[in-house]
Order: sequence, then structure tokens, then C-alpha cells
Amino acid sequence: MARVFVITGPSGVGKGTLIRRLRETIPELRVSVSATTRPPRAGEEHGRDYWFLDDAEFDRRVGEGDFVEHAEYAGRKYGTLREELERHLGEGAPVVLEIEVQGARQVRETMPEAVQVFVVPPSFDALRERLESRGTDGADTIARRLEVSRVELESQHEFDHRLVNDDLDATARQLETLVREQLSSAGAV
Ligand code: 5GP
Repeated sequence: MARVFVITGPSGVGKGTLIRRLRETIPELRVSVSATTRPPRAGEEHGRDYWFLDDAEFDRRVGEGDFVEHAEYAGRKYGTLREELERHLGEGAPVVLEIEVQGARQVRETMPEAVQVFVVPPSFDALRERLESRGTDGADTIARRLEVSRVELESQHEFDHRLVNDDLDATARQLETLVREQLSSAGAV
């Protein structure tokens, strides 16, 4: 039964924007707030955008089995908290996880029923331009993220569903259709 949706793909591909659009059209979808050790960006809030943890706290929670999946990405740790996911599922809501590829692989192992969507950039240059223009990261961070993206893009064929984000409106509609189909085949909508 499709209750968990994983949206993955390289940093800057538009996962966050697509998920925001998806929640406008399917408001019952919940987004799981991840934990991370990276510092907050301007405007980000603890508990809304991420649970911002220090390294020791993150590691302690890994040790206690608090994460459904976790991974190191460009030198920082990220993970999905079990309590976040279970709280939403326990309330009967479908949940979206916005995670990088290593985490998506872990979810594929532990929750094979989760629907996984890999968002593909129209080109590598488009990804670079997006990361540069959104202005959230410095040049070093962008370079590091682009390195990771090359590797992530090679894994796109592991994923059952791939969407090329060449036109935001069209891609958002495709994602909505996919999620609605999965929810209705699960008897939820
Ligand atoms: P950012 O630092 O740009 O917010 O996120 C960097 C990368 O980490 C993105 O690809 C994002 O999707 C991913 N990410 C965010 N939360 C999680 C999580 O809980 N687990 C994993 N594995 N990746 C995450």
C-alpha cells in the first residue's frame, strides 16, 4: 500500500518546490521534517525546515535507532526520524520524504512498498545554474554538491519513476498524477 513517497534527485533539481506544489494540490500529504547537522540557512526554522542537531546528538540518535534512514551528504549528516514518519502514518496521512539517493536506497530496502520518484534535471548545466541562482550556498558548497550530483545522476535508473524537471508546471502536474494514482490504488483517496 502506497503511503510513503520518496522524492529524490540531486540538490537544486527542484524537489522542494515540487513538494510544495504537491501539497497545494493534495493537502492531506504530510512532509516529514528531517534532522541535519548542517547549519540553518537564512530564514530556516528549527522544527519546520529541519531539526538542526549537532554532530554528537545526531550520532547519539543514530545509536538509539531513531532514524529510518540516514546518510552523509557533502560533509553533513541528514536523516529521517522514525517518530516523524510514524506520527503522520499513525494519523492516517500519506507522507513525503525529500531525501538524497543513499537514503532513498535504504528506504527501498526497509520499506519496499514506498513509491520512489527520482527528479532529473534537464541538463547538468541547468543544475549548476539553479544552484548558483538560488543563492543559498557559497561557491565551495556548490562545487561539492555538483560533484555529488554527478554520482547521484548515475543512479537514476534504479528508480521506478523518473521525472525530468524541464518545466515546473508540467512536472508538478505529472507528480500530482503519479501520487494520486498511487494513493487511489492504495484505497486512500
Ligand atoms: P539541503 O542541505 O540542500 O537542505 O539538503 C541536501 C540534500 O540532503 C538534499 O538532496 C536533500 O534532499 C537531502 N536530505 C534532506 N533531508 C534528508 C534526510 O532526512 N535524509 C537524507 N538521506 N537526505 C536528506
